[in-house]
Amino acid sequence: MRESWQERFAEAPDVLLDARRRRTIVPVLDLAVGGDDFVTMAGPCSVETEQQLMATAYRVRNAGARVLRGGAFKPRSSPYAFQGLGREGLKLLAAAREETGLAIVTEVMSECDVPLVAEYADILQIGSRSMENYALLEAAARSGRPILLKRGMMASIADFLRSAQVILSDGNPNVILCERGIRTFETAMRNTFDAAGIALLKQITHLPVIADPSHAAGFRELVPALARIGIAAGADGLLVEVHPDPDNAWSDGEQSLDFEGFAAMMAELEPWIALRGAGLHEENLEQTDSRKSRLAEATA
Ligand code: PEP
Ligand code: MN
Repeated sequence: MRESWQERFAEAPDVLLDARRRRTIVPVLDLAVGGDDFVTMAGPCSVETEQQLMATAYRVRNAGARVLRGGAFKPRSSPYAFQGLGREGLKLLAAAREETGLAIVTEVMSECDVPLVAEYADILQIGSRSMENYALLEAAARSGRPILLKRGMMASIADFLRSAQVILSDGNPNVILCERGIRTFETAMRNTFDAAGIALLKQITHLPVIADPSHAAGFRELVPALARIGIAAGADGLLVEVHPDPDNAWSDGEQSLDFEGFAAMMAELEPWIALRGAGLHEENLEQTDSRKSRLAEATA
């Protein structure tokens, strides 16, 4: 007989879907991530200047984003690359929230920065390079903030689920999983977008799953297609890099959309997002049906 998911992922029992836990909805300000609404998080890779961040915040909000992203602490592959503005960046993010009403997601890289980042952010992002830093996961979990957990670029689904389990075990149920591409032998794209991983996670876990087409692609032309695929695979939202002048961005410019590109993508995605809504409705009906039949059995 085939091994069950419970057996295969026995080290992440609380992350798996069961009769008691069908769907985790993560509250973020007035949003419900993993609920019926599709949630797009967008913004620059790094917070650079007040002008850059404010302009981006207004433009992504007008195009339909609900959460502003932007790194103040940047994990870079090169030690010589821009490392982020730190506390100044966090202050700019908070000011952008104040002005636009958008919630803020930003990365925390080190255990000792957790209290500082948690003071400003609505969602703490754990980056791909930190996914297996359990000390960081535990500290982030204990802050009580929702956690956006990015899949490690070399992490299997089992590794990913174990990291989510660490956060849940530390008493924080508000975990959002994020597929951002994994390393494979393929080098034409920055990473290989694991759409099947999204579909599987949606089938076996109760946690919200979002797709990051930007880091998966590595170049902006591919971002709308990967976003579409992510939605079709069942994602509950997107994390997208947007910059006023991508060619001059301080980090990840090649994969960042400009304002027009982002607005065009969001408009193109509308029918796909509407289809997702229809799918959820069917799922709810199915659940209602199975509840009805259980009820019928119980009362027979
Ligand atoms: C980012 O979101 O800018 C980032 C650094 O992502 P990742 O951790 O997925 O590389
Ligand atoms: Mn980036």
